[in-house]
Amino acid sequence: MKALVKESAAPGFVLRDVPIPSILDNEVLIRVRAAGVCGTDVHIFDWDDWAAGRCKPPFTVGHEFAGEVAEVGKLVTDVKVGDRVTAEGHIVCGRCHLCRTGNAHVCPNTRIIGVDRNGCFAEYIAMPATNVWHLDDNIPFEIGGIHDPMGNAFHTALHGTEIPGATVLVTGCGPIGIFAVGICVAAGASRVIASDVNPRRLALARQMGAHDAVAPADLSATVDRATEGLGVDVVLEMSGVPAAIHQAFAEVRDGGRVQMLGIPSKPFEINLATEIIFNGITIYGVVGRRMYDTWIQMTQFLRSGKFDPAPVITHRFPLEGFGEAMHVIKSGDAGKVVFVLD
Ligand code: NAD
Ligand code: ZN
Repeated sequence: MKALVKESAAPGFVLRDVPIPSILDNEVLIRVRAAGVCGTDVHIFDWDDWAAGRCKPPFTVGHEFAGEVAEVGKLVTDVKVGDRVTAEGHIVCGRCHLCRTGNAHVCPNTRIIGVDRNGCFAEYIAMPATNVWHLDDNIPFEIGGIHDPMGNAFHTALHGTEIPGATVLVTGCGPIGIFAVGICVAAGASRVIASDVNPRRLALARQMGAHDAVAPADLSATVDRATEGLGVDVVLEMSGVPAAIHQAFAEVRDGGRVQMLGIPSKPFEINLATEIIFNGITIYGVVGRRMYDTWIQMTQFLRSGKFDPAPVITHRFPLEGFGEAMHVIKSGDAGKVVFVLD
């Protein structure tokens, strides 16, 4: 089968012919039909410090996908050949303290497909049946193929927050931020304000229903106007950029909540006393998707018809187009980029 492989500890991917994976008794083989490309894949492509410290080539890249089940292991009972599925890409142990207390998203034994084991930028992938998630018949494979980042957005927007009636600020309108805008609108936020430095992405945020989509320089005045100087109830920090993180704390109201998804590239200084403590702010750190309450919520929002992620997908490529895919993501001109396999 064709697979996009990280062959050695150096920049680049190679499109290779590799064996179709064999499956264990508790696994299923999935024929990949669509696969989302993520910033993580770009880090692995570029072979930056994070990738060099974490990944062990050679392996097949990619962790966001959907497809059809082609084969099931002997112990698998609730997935069958032909099922249309996506999957949670974090494979957890199921036995540790965290897994057993409903916190599998922070299982210390997590192994991620396309990072720690072979991934989905290939014609087939083997997955534990426990990680498989069935798609409704009306969900196209390319939407199935972006459930992973959409799930990041659902987790960030809805875990521990009270979005109905709330004023919400989304800092950073990458694909996940734009999903989050649509989710908060669907969940009944009274006002959704989005910020980004990139006009193309602000336009996508507006398309997903943002009431205000503004440059960082205009954010403070916009929040003041929208909240009569109070500040927003909830901030979803989805950029990882220090300037935006400071703004998140500056624009949330006292007693409000900041959900932190964006990952800063290196440590930086925050004044805990003035930015967080004296303002009584609650912070929630987001890792992946909660297993599986986030997946249930995501499926129910899609069923409701009130949340449509389709506008976020702006580019589609065959696997052969990986160079162009990397380029378009780095240019900042894309929403979500997906590989389509026929
Ligand atoms: P992305 O890099 O496409 O989006 C980040 C956005 O922030 C970009 O559109 C960028 O223009 C914008 N930005 C830059 N400076 C800004 C500023 N000063 N104010 C507002 N916006 C600014 O990334 P993405 O794929 O949407 O992911 C968002 C973040 O979440 C990234 O940091 C990513 O690493 C992180 N992430 C975290 C998890 C997790 O589990 N915690 C999972 C996936 C991604
Ligand atoms: Zn565990």
